[in-house]
Amino acid sequence: MVSFYPGPSRIYSKVPLYLKDAYAQGIMSINHRSDDFVAISKKTVALLKEKLNIPKSYSVYFLSSATECWEVIAQSLIEKESVHLFNGAFGERWFQYTKKLKPHVKSLPFNREEKLIAEKLIFSRSEIICLTQNETSNGTQVSNANIQSIKKNNPNSLIAVDATSSMGGLALDFSSADIWFASVQKCFGLPAGLGLLICSPTAVDRARTINNKHYYNSLVFMDDMMKHWQTTYTPNVLGIYLLMRVMESVNAIDRIDKTITGRFKKWETFFDKKSDQLSLFIKNKDVRSRTVLAIEATPAVVEKVKSKAKKAGIILGEGYDNLKSSTFRIANFPAIQRKEIAILMDFLYDYI
Ligand SMILES: *Cc1c(COP(=O)(O)O)cnc(C)c1O
Repeated sequence: MVSFYPGPSRIYSKVPLYLKDAYAQGIMSINHRSDDFVAISKKTVALLKEKLNIPKSYSVYFLSSATECWEVIAQSLIEKESVHLFNGAFGERWFQYTKKLKPHVKSLPFNREEKLIAEKLIFSRSEIICLTQNETSNGTQVSNANIQSIKKNNPNSLIAVDATSSMGGLALDFSSADIWFASVQKCFGLPAGLGLLICSPTAVDRARTINNKHYYNSLVFMDDMMKHWQTTYTPNVLGIYLLMRVMESVNAIDRIDKTITGRFKKWETFFDKKSDQLSLFIKNKDVRSRTVLAIEATPAVVEKVKSKAKKAGIILGEGYDNLKSSTFRIANFPAIQRKEIAILMDFLYDYI
């Protein structure tokens, strides 16, 4: 089976090997306060910074999921008000979760075909501006340039970016925002169960000023522990180890981004030129996601393609939520191999 599901997704082929090493080396039983763990944690953070181009001054924290990051941001970094810009299900869910903890948050939904106009997005009162860089549910993305402009126009707000389905696959400009997060079952090509939260020094200072200490995962506690390369609770040590091994082996992000973008262009051409029955769901080229493609068809065709694909050993992503019957999704994540993409293209060519 080859999975094109946009999370949990295809893992890197070497993961079983790393798993075996972890077992042989006793990683699955090491204590999370031990020197052995500290060495793994420290090295993983260093590799993430090096390979993904994260500024040295930023802090990296290990959490359990992107959803947990939503909650940590809400409890530790927002005193009263944030604003959530979203055009799809994940961005909206982030807003809804935040609202449960901070009732004064604002939302600014926008059309999925629309590019954000930074000049119109000035928020004088919002402590944090929340953006979903890659909206996995509908296959749209916000560009680095857009995030940079939003930050420039809102010097007093922190910018928080959900990059769950792009971090590890695209060259993100980390310096253009204060808070970034992802989980590893998407572009990092790993099994689920580990989240990454990345904060600028300004974001950490803000957490210190707010000084919320009500939760086991309050950012100030996590920051205190991470000064010693540790976590507030027993973390997913195996997940961190696997991440370390993957980050050791992958190319620098600029190269990965080039590959992903090249593959994305091929998919664009494929759907624009070769198919009558299938088309890219997002028509505006400027906002199309490069890592998650949403494909639109009639419900009958969507059903047929998904079930025939399954019989051929190919797992396609279901359409998300209310897009389930009218779309399916194709992950364009780095762990997917070129020959697998060729197999899927052949398959789609034959069955439509
Ligand atoms: C998958 C996803 C999430 C949720 O990730 P979890 O690891 O399940 O918490 C959040 N945001 C986006 C954009 C996603 O794609």
